[in-house]
Formats: sequence, C-alpha cells, structure tokens
Amino acid sequence: MPVKQLIVNETFLSIQGESTQAGRLCFFIRLAGCNLNCGYCDTDYARDTESGTAMTIAHLVSQARLAKVRLVEITGGEPLNQVNTAALCEALLDEDIEVMVETNGSLPLSLLPPAVRKIVDCKTPSSGMDEYNLYDNFHILSNRDEIKFVICDYADYEFALAVMERYQLAGKTPNILFSPAWGKLDPKTLAGWMLADLPPARLQLQIHKLIWGPDKCSV
Ligand code: SF4
Repeated sequence: MPVKQLIVNETFLSIQGESTQAGRLCFFIRLAGCNLNCGYCDTDYARDTESGTAMTIAHLVSQARLAKVRLVEITGGEPLNQVNTAALCEALLDEDIEVMVETNGSLPLSLLPPAVRKIVDCKTPSSGMDEYNLYDNFHILSNRDEIKFVICDYADYEFALAVMERYQLAGKTPNILFSPAWGKLDPKTLAGWMLADLPPARLQLQIHKLIWGPDKCSV
C-alpha cells in the first residue's frame, strides 16, 4: 500500500486565535492549495499547491506529538482539497489528540471523522466566493462544530443573519461566530449591530492578530 502523504505549507505551535477554542495552545498543520480565491484571504501564500512540500502522515503525527499539546488544527489553504486529510485526522485522533479542521465550506464535510471539530467558514458576499458555499454541509454538523462568518460590511452582516434564519443554524450548533474582517470593519460597529438585533451568535476577535499584529496568520 502506498505511503499516504499531504502537501504541507507549514507547521507551527501557537495560540489558537479563533473559534470557541481561542486561547488554547495548539499545533497547526497548514496544508497547501485552495479551490477558492477570496477577496480578503490572509493566507494567500498557502493558496497554491506549489507552496507546499509532501509529508507523510506518520511524520505529521510525530511532529504533533513532539509539540506536546493536545490540540491540533488542520487548516490551509483548504484542507478538504486533499484526499488524505481524513486519514490524517484519524491518525491524530488515534493518538488521543483533539482535532479541528478549518474549512471554507465549499467541499463535502461528510468524509471527516465525526470526532473532528469542524469550523466552517461560510463565505460572505465580500469574499466574492459565496456562490461556492455548500449548504448541504449544514445538515451534518453537530453541536460541537462551528460556523464562522467573516464580516466586512453591513451587507455581509445581513447575509449572515439570512443564512442563519434560512438554515436554522442556531438549532444545529451554539457556536456561530461573527468575525469582523481585520482592517475592514471596526469590531465596535459589529458589536453595535449585534446588540441591536440580538442574533444567537458570538463576536469573535482574532486574538493572534491582537497579540502579534495584523500580519500574523495562525488559523
Ligand atoms: S478559502 Fe481560505 S485560503 Fe482559500 S482563498 Fe479563501 S480565505 Fe484564502
């Protein structure tokens, strides 16, 4: 049987900057290559498959073990763009490591093991990629999974509210995250809208950028 590999842009130990797990120490595996081209992409350097090198699953699991933390996030790029991502998740889970996968939501989540915490970045209009949202994915989410909306302006905010309503997202998970796009929307403005409308969502700030500055990408 051939050795399973993934194309990896980078691995690093950091603080989880987003999601309900923000603040936890986390080992990141950033896979190379993405099927989308978002206007606000802050990991442009990982969008091309050519930006990565092949690594075996065994090597990546060993790196995660050496990092000595119990949380691993697989991100990108787009993790589901690679056929061996599910096998990597299984191998990490077998080590008793918690696994999160951050995905752009345009590809089927059904192949991922149920124990993986899935963070679905539902694309808003400002990304220019909202037509690629695979809304069927919402049907398989559990209450441990998370749905993130990156919000650049009021149109994005209204879009997020409409998607929440149409797909009854609050009934699927308590983890709906509204994230103001860094440098594009003042968090105070988004907070004001949320206080006026009271959506069942939480405001999320990218704490890695608050700690290390706007160029730091840790998810
Ligand atoms: S899905 Fe993520 S990595 Fe891909 S272009 Fe959009 S923001 Fe960038």
